[in-house]
Amino acid sequence: MSEQPRVEIYTKEDCPYCRKAKDLFDSKGVDYETYNVTGDDDLFEEMVERADGRKTAPEVFVDDELIGGWDDTQALDESGELDEKLGIADDAGDGPEHRRLVVSGSGIAGLTAAIYAARSNNDPLVLQGDEPGGQLTLTTDVENYPGFPEGISGPELVDQMKEQAERFGAEIRNGVVADVDDSARPYRVELSNGDVLTADAFIAASGASARTLGVPGEDELMGYGVSTCATCDGAFFRDEDMIVVGGGDAAFEEADFLTKFADTVYLVHRRENFRAEDYWVDRVQEKVDAGDIEIIENAELVEVHGSVEDGVDYAELVRHPEGYPSEKLDDPETETVEMDVGAVFLAIGHTPNTEYLEGTGVELDEAGYIKTEGGTGGGQTKTGVPGIFGAGDVVDFHYQQAVTAAGMGCKAALDADDYLETADLGAGQPATEAAAGDD
Ligand SMILES: Cc1cc2nc3c(=O)[nH]c(=O)nc-3n(C[C@H](O)[C@H](O)[C@H](O)COP(=O)(O)OP(=O)(O)OC[C@H]3O[C@@H](n4cnc5c(N)ncnc54)[C@H](O)[C@@H]3O)c2cc1C
Repeated sequence: MSEQPRVEIYTKEDCPYCRKAKDLFDSKGVDYETYNVTGDDDLFEEMVERADGRKTAPEVFVDDELIGGWDDTQALDESGELDEKLGIADDAGDGPEHRRLVVSGSGIAGLTAAIYAARSNNDPLVLQGDEPGGQLTLTTDVENYPGFPEGISGPELVDQMKEQAERFGAEIRNGVVADVDDSARPYRVELSNGDVLTADAFIAASGASARTLGVPGEDELMGYGVSTCATCDGAFFRDEDMIVVGGGDAAFEEADFLTKFADTVYLVHRRENFRAEDYWVDRVQEKVDAGDIEIIENAELVEVHGSVEDGVDYAELVRHPEGYPSEKLDDPETETVEMDVGAVFLAIGHTPNTEYLEGTGVELDEAGYIKTEGGTGGGQTKTGVPGIFGAGDVVDFHYQQAVTAAGMGCKAALDADDYLETADLGAGQPATEAAAGDD
């Protein structure tokens, strides 16, 4: 038996990406050593030196070779190269593995679907995607998920759901779905590392990723004063000044919502015209008149300053009278403004993770969200393709909450069970023919 290479992970405290890195190696059954650099200057220096000057954790090494942070490790895993380095690459066997039910996504929707599907003996395989555990792993406190009067940390809630799903026999595996072929039964599911599976039924629970700006400080302070969810995190910054970035409905709604907690909400938009509906513009104007909201037009956030320990210290903006100031940094009319705020909320939209469904019969709206049957009665999570269901934020662009995602995950598993019990799953049939007897 070949010896396992030595895996080392430098971590720090309260670091969701360090946790993801450890979970990844745990899921592969690979042992590793961890070095916690928090409060240990020597260890921190050692990490920086070994990681070619990088100062972020995690930093992963395999047999002394620098793999990098979570994104690098994840990318290497997706390409299959990580397994090769670890000596655990699977040589292709006899054709693709067949599953009764594949779930894309291990967020709240996917894991709830897995709990229900496992209890219905549908042997679900959950593919985790590149954000194992989903969006909730990015937040420290969840205070509105029923059943936890004292609140619960996002990662802990997700871990408990994973444990619950596995207890009933669900399999949770690393893998990113790159393509679904629905032209014949069973459906063909291709992963980004080239692996192929076939599935009788498929639940798309791949969520929607909040868009971010990519400015310095944003990543480091995400969950520590920078947030993409005002409903979730607004209450943590009571009586502080807050910034909301954006100019559409979501930004206006969030600014309006945050006035419950904030001293003043500053709505920052890069130009003068807003995309928000008149309803929201009027509503926000009332709050502007009352002195609760101040609109800062023609301005862009360029950096967030602060620390994990103390949260956001201040935000740096640039302004130009004609808008889009970050494109005009050399213009003498562009000014830099520092704003002393306690929180920054990004409301610049979400991108649904549905690229892998393009080319299938699953209908997507113009933003890429999955269209499901909806309404009342059974079958609400059905898509246009029999046996493919949608659940959670990848469908629901409006509510986008953990509890609503859980509800849809449950519905999708029940709809899939109904389908698996009644449909003619004959292999090789065109999907539409096999569907004829579904209803
Ligand atoms: C910072 C923050 C704080 C929040 N706080 C709260 C809160 O306090 N309360 C609350 O109710 N809600 C909160 N939310 C919202 C909540 O997290 C979401 O509504 C919920 O996570 C949606 O669950 P989901 O399973 O639909 O999607 P997600 O959580 O987005 O999970 C999607 C999953 O799909 C996977 N995936 C993506 N693409 C693929 C692919 N191609 N193949 C396979 N898998 C894929 C991802 O890796 C991930 O595992 C918060 C959101 C954020 C960002």
